[in-house]
Amino acid sequence: MARIFCIANQKGGVGKTTTTVNLAAGLAAIGQRVLVVDLDPQGNATMGSGVDKRALKLSVYDVLLGNSTVREARQTSEKVGYDVLGANRELAGAEIELVTMEHRDRRLKHALAEVAGDHDFILIDCPPSLSLLTLNGLNCANGVIVPMQCEYFALEGLSDLVNTVKQVHANLNRDLQLIGLLRVMFDPRITLQQQVSEQLKSHFGDKVFNSAIPRNVRLAEAPSYGLPGVVFDPSSKGAIAFVEFARELVARIDPL
Ligand code: ADP
Ligand code: MG
Repeated sequence: MARIFCIANQKGGVGKTTTTVNLAAGLAAIGQRVLVVDLDPQGNATMGSGVDKRALKLSVYDVLLGNSTVREARQTSEKVGYDVLGANRELAGAEIELVTMEHRDRRLKHALAEVAGDHDFILIDCPPSLSLLTLNGLNCANGVIVPMQCEYFALEGLSDLVNTVKQVHANLNRDLQLIGLLRVMFDPRITLQQQVSEQLKSHFGDKVFNSAIPRNVRLAEAPSYGLPGVVFDPSSKGAIAFVEFARELVARIDPL
C-alpha cells in the first residue's frame, strides 16, 4: 500500500516543488516505486519531472472531474525513474468546477485508491493556498511534509499550516499527521537561519528532520533541463542531501 504524503506550505516559492521532485527521485534512487501528483496549476512538478505540461492528453484535472482514471492519466518518466500524474493551467478551472460536484473534497482520494498497490510512495505537490485542491490532497494523505526556509516570518506561517493539519485530522481525515519539517535553502553560516532552526527544534522537537537541504545552484538549474537535481547532478550537495532525506524519511515512517 502506498504511503501518501502532501508536500505543503501556504507560501509560494519556499521549495515545495523542488522538494517533491527531488524527494521522488531520491526515493526512486533507493528502490522505491514513486508517483508524483502535481496539484499546482503552474505545473512545475510536471515540467521538472521531464513531462511537458503543454502536451498532456490527460491530467490530474481529468482525474478530479471523473473523466479519466489515474492509470490512464499517469505517465512513466523514464529519465527520472518515477511516474507522474501531471497538471497544467486547466487545473485552475477545477477549483470552480469541483464546487458543485459530489464528494468535491475527496475525489482525489477515491481516484488514487486504484493505484495504491502500484507505488510505495505517492507525493503530492500542493499549490500555495488552502484551496479545494489542497484539501483534496490533505484528505487522501497519511501525512504532510513541510519544506521551509529558516527566515524571520517562517514560524508565523507555520502555525496556520499546523492548525489546518489539525483541523483536517479532526474533521475529515483521521490518518493525517504532520510527518515533519524540512529545512530547505539552508545555510547554517547565517546566524538568523541558525536561530530560526533552533527555535524550530524547540517548538517542534523531532518533527524537524535531521536532514537539511542546502542552498545549491544545481537544484535551481535542474528544472530548466526538465530534471530533478538528484538526476541532473547526483554528486551535487543538494542532490546528496535529498537522497539522505529520502533515507531518513523511509526510516522514520517504517514503524507506521
Ligand atoms: P514552491 O514550489 O514552494 O513555489 P520551488 O520549489 O519552485 O518553490 O522553489 C522556488 C525557487 O527556489 C525555485 O527557483 C527553485 O529552483 C529555488 N530553490 C528551491 N530550493 C532550492 C535550494 N535548495 N537551493 C537553491 N535554490 C532552490
Ligand atoms: Mg511549486
